[in-house]
Amino acid sequence: MLNLRRKRSKMAELVQMMKTLDQQVARCSRCGICQSVCPLYNVTKNESDVTRGKLMLLDGLMRSFFDDPKGVLQRLDRCLLCGSCAANCPRGVNAVEIFLNARVIISGYRGMSLIKKIIFRYLLSNPEFFDRIISWGAKWQYLFFRKTDVQVNLSCASMVSPLLSNRRMVPLAPASFHQISSGLIKTEKRTGLKVAFFVGCLLDKVFPEVAVEIVRILNFHNVRVIIPPAQGCCGIPALSSGDQLTFNRLVEHSLNRFDQAGFDYLVTGCATCTATIKKIWPAMFKSASENQNSALRHLVEKTYDISQFLVDVLGVRSSVMPEEKLSKPIVTYHDPCHLRKTLNVYSEPRILIQANDAYSFAEMSNAETCCGMGGSFNLAHYKLSTDIGKKKVANIESTGAAVVATGCPACMIQLADMLAMGKKQIRVVHTVELYSEKILYPGVSE
Ligand code: SF4
Ligand code: SF4
Repeated sequence: MLNLRRKRSKMAELVQMMKTLDQQVARCSRCGICQSVCPLYNVTKNESDVTRGKLMLLDGLMRSFFDDPKGVLQRLDRCLLCGSCAANCPRGVNAVEIFLNARVIISGYRGMSLIKKIIFRYLLSNPEFFDRIISWGAKWQYLFFRKTDVQVNLSCASMVSPLLSNRRMVPLAPASFHQISSGLIKTEKRTGLKVAFFVGCLLDKVFPEVAVEIVRILNFHNVRVIIPPAQGCCGIPALSSGDQLTFNRLVEHSLNRFDQAGFDYLVTGCATCTATIKKIWPAMFKSASENQNSALRHLVEKTYDISQFLVDVLGVRSSVMPEEKLSKPIVTYHDPCHLRKTLNVYSEPRILIQANDAYSFAEMSNAETCCGMGGSFNLAHYKLSTDIGKKKVANIESTGAAVVATGCPACMIQLADMLAMGKKQIRVVHTVELYSEKILYPGVSE
């Protein structure tokens, strides 16, 4: 009886969500502008891959989805959630939010696969347990990977499993950032701003050296850094798979972790984490508690991407005359979708890069176009992901760059894989690594 009541209330909730979704979808005028900016349509030329096609599908959601929820989900799943369509839509249709809501509805109706339940509900939802599993994975990963001789100045390893299409993966770090960070916190009395560092899964577990540089840079600028322990994921992997429950748990976890920290700004080095905190948390977190909602609003206001914080708040500037740099190695920049399209942050990373006078900066064509990663999109649709990624590699290469910088660890993984696939010796770095070379290790890149 209790179960039946729960099921009815769940269905009522889903129907309510669908009504809201129908209203959002109705704003689309079918103008087709989103077609020209969709990286997926650009490689498939398939109308059902573009926002307009997907919205037409959702238009009949109330009718079609009970008949064929699996088919609707499969079509919705062919999306990078890059936000290019939303950023260019003249009617302000936020396709990313619509698709996320639709995935939540469908997953609520159909249930989730066992493997996703294990990953999201038992691993990701329990940050300390997740950390232990990843530490174990870092020790034993070379049973499943083999080291390759193709290096893009990242230690790439090739997957041996045919299921994973012989990807060239950036391996898990031997020690996560949270295991090595305690010595980095400067305890002497600092008078500057207090900044809480939201590390994010990929910087913590794959690129701890980038997280270390972020703390060192903040220390250099006399900023007091607070790193709350046992931080969790921002929640976007779970929500992208329609798991509202895990997403809510992770947002609550972060609110609890950061609530007591007392800080002026919250900074991340991951474009996806920043965009998720600033845009997806307020739109998708479901809480009945006014305290939590108000804590969330405060946190969102204080959240900055690291390049934005360094340039807009601390006033870092490029100090080099362009003609001085002609004989220097070329660096180019790839705009992560979540920085450029979701948050409109694009000049700050370029200023930060150009603060390092050891390089000459060259803009690539279509720097703002998606690299093809799209989180789980890359796992589910590797062929499409590489088709998109190869276009990015061609644009990087045509600048003559020795280095490509970006502000998102997921983009770094994709660029490393795509460049290694094409056997291109172009180094992939996080934007802050170039800035720290300049201020902390002058002469290293000369
Ligand atoms: S650009 Fe906006 S209004 Fe035009 S088809 Fe795409 S989603 Fe609809
Ligand atoms: S979010 Fe990106 S991939 Fe998805 S429909 Fe919009 S433009 Fe295309």
